[in-house]
Amino acid sequence: MYAVGVDLGATNVRAVVGDDTGTIVGRARARTPQGPTADAVTRAVLDVVREACRDASVEPSTIAGAGIGSMGVIDRDAGTVGLSSNLGTETESLDPIPLVDPLADLLETDAVVLHNDTLAGAIGEHHHTHPDVDSLVYLTISSGIGAGVISDGSPLLGTDGNAGEVGHMTIDAAGRLPCGCGAAGHWEAYCSGNSIPALARLLAADGGERKSENENEVEDEDRHTETALPLESNDLTAAEIFEHAGSDPLATHVVDRVAELNVLGMGNVINAYAPAVVSVGGAVALNNQSLVLDPIREEIESQLVVQTPEIVCSDLGEEAVLRGALRCAFTGTSGGLDG
Ligand SMILES: [Zn+2]
Repeated sequence: MYAVGVDLGATNVRAVVGDDTGTIVGRARARTPQGPTADAVTRAVLDVVREACRDASVEPSTIAGAGIGSMGVIDRDAGTVGLSSNLGTETESLDPIPLVDPLADLLETDAVVLHNDTLAGAIGEHHHTHPDVDSLVYLTISSGIGAGVISDGSPLLGTDGNAGEVGHMTIDAAGRLPCGCGAAGHWEAYCSGNSIPALARLLAADGGERKSENENEVEDEDRHTETALPLESNDLTAAEIFEHAGSDPLATHVVDRVAELNVLGMGNVINAYAPAVVSVGGAVALNNQSLVLDPIREEIESQLVVQTPEIVCSDLGEEAVLRGALRCAFTGTSGGLDG
């Protein structure tokens, strides 16, 4: 008996066909359309699922169920995902994207489960890597920041299925950097892959201000803002900043500051959910494991009133959401094959 797992991200949509042991027999991926309509995104999801079925040499109508892990703000009752700050501006006026009903029609089954992507990631990590742990947080640091929570062995859903939006916890009360959600001072406005270049510009401007105030005495702190990074360029990426940490003074300063802010954000998350394990995924963390995770491991205890959890890099990496989506096709959480 096969099911389908879908990972709908801002950049890519991916699907797998697999069985209840997690063995994958088919897969496919495509770029996520950046509009112009919600239907275009739905069609792309259905196309990728059809292609994964072809790759597995099975008819879509023989698939027993499906799980979807989606970016954005989901509506579990409606089976749709609303627009998120993750998609491009072209899609800002998009209606909610229908996912559950169209996929149920294609597969001719009612067993279709929709979760937000981080919760699917948590389900994947829990099932595949940490099956003996009752309380686990899967934290993703990528273009945004979010968490999926397994609490006392069960996925924490929240209203409409949107618990775990921890990237919008405030870590800067002064709110100096605006967040994609419209508020300011949020964790992902400073430490996500999309935001780290803005943090670099902010820290460089801070240093510039101090220099003009004390022209004759340049303090050690101000030497941090010397840089060869192309700060004015829109092409400056978080990856470039991490790459130059240790050699470029500003890049080093930015990565240090990101580490300090991640300790605050992670401390909030751990105090809220008391997990035994925090599994960290997302490209920013996966590609810079020691620069991102080591400072958190070293400093996190200073923030905690609960037991210090094990902080590990996601074993499943980029597959966590897809694996979790496939898993919840079999386990439900209402609506799955045995739900
Ligand atoms: Zn926000």
